[in-house]
Amino acid sequence: MTNMFSRILIANRGEIACRVIRTAQKMGIGTVAVYSDADANALHVAMADEAVHIGGSSVSESYLRADRIIQAAIDTGAEAIHPGYGFLSENPGFVDAVVKAGLVFIGPSADSIRAMGLKDAAKRLMEKAGVPVVPGYHGEAQELVVLASKAREIGYPVLIKARAGGGGKGMRKVDSPDDFAEALGSARREAKSAFGDDRVLVEKYVSKPRHIEVQVFGDNHGNAVHLYERDCSLQRRHQKVIEEAPAPDITPEMRAAMTDAAVKAAKAINYSGAGTIEFIVDASQGLRPDGFWFMEMNTRLQVEHPVTEMITGLDLVEWQLRVAAGEPLPLTQAQIPLNGHAVEARLYAEDPAKGFLPAIGTLHHLTFPATVNGGTVRIETGVRPGDTISPYYDPMIAKIVVHATDRASALHAMEDALLHTEIAGTVTNAAFLAALVRHQGFAAGDVDTGLIDRHLHSLVVPVAMPAGAKELAVLYASGLLIKAVSDDPWTALRGYSHHAPSHYPVTLGEPGQTTRYGVAVLGDDRFEIAAPDTAVDLRVRHDGGGWHITGKGINLKAKTAAIPQGVAIIATGVVATFALIDPLQRAEEAGGAGDRLTAPMPGLVKSVRVSAGDMVKKGQVLLVLEAMKMEHSITAPHDGKIAEIVKEGAQVKEKTALVRFEELESAELTKK
Ligand code: ADP
Ligand code: ADP
Ligand code: MG
Repeated sequence: MTNMFSRILIANRGEIACRVIRTAQKMGIGTVAVYSDADANALHVAMADEAVHIGGSSVSESYLRADRIIQAAIDTGAEAIHPGYGFLSENPGFVDAVVKAGLVFIGPSADSIRAMGLKDAAKRLMEKAGVPVVPGYHGEAQELVVLASKAREIGYPVLIKARAGGGGKGMRKVDSPDDFAEALGSARREAKSAFGDDRVLVEKYVSKPRHIEVQVFGDNHGNAVHLYERDCSLQRRHQKVIEEAPAPDITPEMRAAMTDAAVKAAKAINYSGAGTIEFIVDASQGLRPDGFWFMEMNTRLQVEHPVTEMITGLDLVEWQLRVAAGEPLPLTQAQIPLNGHAVEARLYAEDPAKGFLPAIGTLHHLTFPATVNGGTVRIETGVRPGDTISPYYDPMIAKIVVHATDRASALHAMEDALLHTEIAGTVTNAAFLAALVRHQGFAAGDVDTGLIDRHLHSLVVPVAMPAGAKELAVLYASGLLIKAVSDDPWTALRGYSHHAPSHYPVTLGEPGQTTRYGVAVLGDDRFEIAAPDTAVDLRVRHDGGGWHITGKGINLKAKTAAIPQGVAIIATGVVATFALIDPLQRAEEAGGAGDRLTAPMPGLVKSVRVSAGDMVKKGQVLLVLEAMKMEHSITAPHDGKIAEIVKEGAQVKEKTALVRFEELESAELTKK
């Protein structure tokens, strides 16, 4: 290790910043983090040796501020900048500026990025290098008549793609010539607004497409190798959801053909550092060495790089640092191992039941499994318990990565990992991911990019609340459960005493209803919960970190976590939340300021649908809030009369009052 850096700056946030910092620490390299207002208390800031505040919360004021980031590197004595992925990672102008400032960019040259930056030019280049590219038109002409006639020559269905595209944007599948003009117009508009470039190419739409990509690595001494393939066919809206390595059912011939083409592509641009060659594969007749085509090259570390690390046992960030410092690749092609099978799932704060609407929230409870059945688990995350998923950035909570000896074991390990991931405070896609891992077609390796869409109805199903969850919430609300300091039930529960009251009233809010319960203490760990029409005797013990509640039809192990509205009951693979309603407090609120609706997140009031004085019905849309580029309807929680409402166009903070209802009559209040 001759010229290894002594200090680097990481121009990113979240899990990837944490990931890079970990490897730097392992190698004894100092780390500098950068952060925005919203990230002042973020994990990556806490982990780094030093941190520099860059600017406001929006990415244009912070993580995209190339000038300030470079200045921060100079000011802190960092010698090199790691860009992570996204943000400035594929911006050749940034690379030029880094180099001009006398710093090292940990990644490829600006020229390599430019060569691969536009999909049309990249395809022309790859064609010349003898790499198979998707049949289609990637020339200069952009007139409708020319593109439409090219589409006819290619044969429908075709895919219109923005040449500057990324993240699945500016892409339209067209099934017939009649739809071509309209699809072209809309692809162009989207491309113009997302990338400021509305030029497109037209490709054959591959039927039964699989996305298989090859990890490549080059150095500054003319070497290039591959680290095998990854299959990323499980996608939603052209975005990866679950990735794995190696690709299911790949044959030695197919792997040889794909990895050869990938290394050829890397060599054609003298590639240095980590890169990924993405191929589209026609799987309609199985995997065939003549049935794959170059789609694009990502000239950076990929989100899903951990699956490659798990099967090779290598640290790709370490390789990036060594190559950037001028060392040759650590291994030759023949020395790179391939062991077992790895799978990664992207865990997001999003609501599958609401069309995968991004969510925000504070992670009041957050626990990942340290071990899994049949394999090993690795968690890549940038958040800790108590951290917030903010509206400013990608709402990824973690990448869950598992490794096992074979694919079936890896899928079981992943299911186990997902079922034992405990999160309260935001909705997540964990149950959706678990359903996907259990899916028969996926388990059989029969994957293609349309699998999720075709089976969406069976993958997005609400998980039933387990018997006993509600009862545990009632006991929690009664104050009779005390967080145990030991597993001794005598210290875990209170209640049975000659002096303590023996009856506790509890009001619990569940979706769509509010119920009053009465809890009676029967013994040290025995209770009776009476609902309006039923009563159940229960036994509750503190057991291995959670509660074990048993009774007629009930045998549940679960944890409780306080959330602002009430309590979350966390059981294997399911989280149920209940509102705890304090009747006195509610009466005070309603009698005082009237009840209000506040903004669940910072945003813009896009439209206001009702006015002061209007009578509204429960469920009626009162206004629409735009946040995180999505529209959220704010609806009336009950019938009532509007006293005040915000103005259209207002920019609101989280918890700003949006709507105030007229005070309820006391008669109405007691009825509730
Ligand atoms: P990969 O190919 O590594 O799975 P992409 O090429 O889709 O990922 O994008 C890489 C990263 O760039 C994403 O993980 C994200 O940080 C950022 N990104 C790209 N497109 C989007 C998008 N539409 N919305 C938010 N972030 C995006
Ligand atoms: P981006 O830069 O947005 O990642 P890509 O060119 O990598 O764009 O394509 C994204 C996804 O779109 C692919 O992973 C694949 O699912 C789908 N796709 C791309 N090209 C084709 C094609 N010719 N036929 C079928 N599906 C395609
Ligand atoms: Mg892509």
